[in-house]
Amino acid sequence: MNSKKERYKRTMLDLAKNEDLVSGIYNYCDRWCERCTKTRKCLTYLHEQEMKEGADAQNSDDENQHFWEQIRLAWEVTMELIEEDADRLGIDLNNVPEIELPEHIETPLEVRAKDYGFKMHDWLEKNREYIAEKAEQLVMIADEALIVKYKDALEVLQWYYFFIGTKVHRAHLDLEERQNDPEDEYSVYSDNLGSAKIAIIAIERSMDALSVFYDDFKEREDDILGFLAELSSLKKQLLKTFPGVMDFKRPGFDD
Ligand code: SF4
Repeated sequence: MNSKKERYKRTMLDLAKNEDLVSGIYNYCDRWCERCTKTRKCLTYLHEQEMKEGADAQNSDDENQHFWEQIRLAWEVTMELIEEDADRLGIDLNNVPEIELPEHIETPLEVRAKDYGFKMHDWLEKNREYIAEKAEQLVMIADEALIVKYKDALEVLQWYYFFIGTKVHRAHLDLEERQNDPEDEYSVYSDNLGSAKIAIIAIERSMDALSVFYDDFKEREDDILGFLAELSSLKKQLLKTFPGVMDFKRPGFDD
């Protein structure tokens, strides 16, 4: 494991020298690397690819073994880098004062965003056969373009239904304190804005995806309208809670 750890660390430090990379690009993306348009600028992506290439996976068990090993290595290397930085800065990590973290109470907006995820998940499960039947009808009439459109829309909904709740939650962490700190010495509020912005982007993409179904799924029209209304309301509330959120520049995406 040690030589693997060394390789993991060395690969990361070597790749980090690449001047095309954008620092922190992975902080406010949607982690959908297969659909990302900025992979060449992302250290996380390039590192994952590099480590995959070095893996000797013959079957899915090997792949899973490799997956868990990478999680373990990421943790160990991160801790090692933190310890090295602390040493350099003369900080004794065994003697850091305890910080009392404030209790986080979920806001109604967070609860609603999370609920959307569960409801959409359940709805897709419940309508699995219905969607499959629709797809079969399209195969019969050989409408390839529409099949691809449905498939893409389904993927989008699946990718984002839990993602939205997670990001809305993150956007609310220490929100009042951060919004009312005129100094904001370390720009911590930017994390709330970045999280809220990617949540809004995910909401808009989910609404686009639902619109694809709305045109053809007449029997499910009411359900789809309900989801569209809820997403639209979540977006409106986010824009109100985070004034100027859409002006936030996500590194690598908006600048
Ligand atoms: S920036 Fe793109 S490639 Fe990097 S982690 Fe995010 S989605 Fe993946």
